Amino acid sequence: MNFDEALEKLHEIDRECRYLDQTAAVLQWDQETYLPPQGVADRAEQLAFVRKLVHERFIAPETGRLLKELGSDSQNLRGDESLSPLEGDFCKVMRRRYDKAVKLPADFVSAAARAEGLSQAAWVQARRNNDFAAFLPHLNAMIDFARKKARYWGFGNGLLGDEYDGLLDIYEPGMTARNISALFGPLRDGLISLLKRIAARPQPDVSFLNREYDVAAQIRFNRVLMDRLGFDSSRGRLDVSAHPFTTSLGSDDIRITTRYYPANLLSGLFSVIHESGHALYEMGFPREIRGTCLAEGASMAVHESQSRFWENVAGRNRLFWDGLFPLLRDHFPGPLASVSVEDFYRAVNLVKPSYIRVEADEVSYSLHVILRFELEKQLFSGELEPEKLPETWRKLMKEFLGLEPETDAEGVLQDVHWSMGSFGYFPSYALGNLYGLQFWAKLSADLPQAEQAMGRGDFEEIHRWLRETIYRWGCRLDPPDLLQKVTGEKLSITPFLSYLEKKYTGLYGL
Ligand code: ZN
Repeated sequence: MNFDEALEKLHEIDRECRYLDQTAAVLQWDQETYLPPQGVADRAEQLAFVRKLVHERFIAPETGRLLKELGSDSQNLRGDESLSPLEGDFCKVMRRRYDKAVKLPADFVSAAARAEGLSQAAWVQARRNNDFAAFLPHLNAMIDFARKKARYWGFGNGLLGDEYDGLLDIYEPGMTARNISALFGPLRDGLISLLKRIAARPQPDVSFLNREYDVAAQIRFNRVLMDRLGFDSSRGRLDVSAHPFTTSLGSDDIRITTRYYPANLLSGLFSVIHESGHALYEMGFPREIRGTCLAEGASMAVHESQSRFWENVAGRNRLFWDGLFPLLRDHFPGPLASVSVEDFYRAVNLVKPSYIRVEADEVSYSLHVILRFELEKQLFSGELEPEKLPETWRKLMKEFLGLEPETDAEGVLQDVHWSMGSFGYFPSYALGNLYGLQFWAKLSADLPQAEQAMGRGDFEEIHRWLRETIYRWGCRLDPPDLLQKVTGEKLSITPFLSYLEKKYTGLYGL
């Protein structure tokens, strides 16, 4: 097989695995949106089967052989033939994934998948019954699988880093617990101090938010909103699910979901803005990488930087609502009759610590994440026994947010992640805030008029900047390299904290 044939063959493996992954994603999307309750058992088997197929296809000896033929990691050279930068990155990403996947025995992968299914079902029950003890055996199993996985990859033996570093690396390549702690320590102190100052100030009246908001009108408004944000409805759609999410079923088929509550206008609306941010990233990959393994976000945190940028920096911006509020009021003439754009702006920026992460405001949100990071770190270092999680959760919650949840359902059992074995995922949410504000600082410096343009509902300049500086790379660059290329900086808490400080000083008269 010559060089070009080997490269084409590797692309074929990538395509076939992608088709299988997207097939699994369709099944998963359907499960979250339309599947009747009795269909869940068959669906779990279908999903496990497709995932087994993709794993087997990917780790076949052929993949390893092709990667070897196509050259060594750093040089992209084989004899006198060399890869273009694009193909070099393609091989780099394929090789990295192959090296990880091939280290996991097939039996381990299927046992973990089955246990995750059971654990998730047990978690749903346990949360409903506020029964942590019933979930504990599953949690222990999930921790055990996660530890083993990290060890298969070579973490936890003193060479690559600790087991928890191996789990963080899944979502944020190269990130370690030590690096995150160095950012999260001062971030926590800064946020707690800001929260205390805000708490000492009078709160705005936001009672109008809990009036009755017709769901059909919410759906209509959200469609207009998505369109304004640049979501291309010929390449995606919006549906309803219990937990909002974004999924790519193909290069030109990006699905987002939200949920609706008649007495909570903001929940559905901000979920649509958040998920649209993820979708714009997925829709914005350039032609040359679409349909390949390079057409993915640089990392979970970089993906989150996009969704949280649209949700918070844009969606909780006064100028954004100057442009959109009249239209919102047209959709809800009753409940918003006597509400001004200033009232609305203050209401969407209400800072009030609460138990639930997904409902948290912009200032307290990252503290929810730092709390979970601290617990995960202690769990994997052996410092914290899983049975002690609920009380340690309450202790940290008191320390960070001044609140103590009365039930585990609104404490340690609130999130799905641990029940799926997704340890190491949480930090991405807070890291995403940091990336997002560093990108925004650079964007504002490059395009001083971009923020004003928001007030006219014009996001064109912002879209172009994001396409040209971030989307174009897909996952060709690791997050630190992407950040360096775009901003010339290392990851930092300063832009995020200064942004909050300035904005909330204005809002609360600090
Ligand atoms: Zn998100």
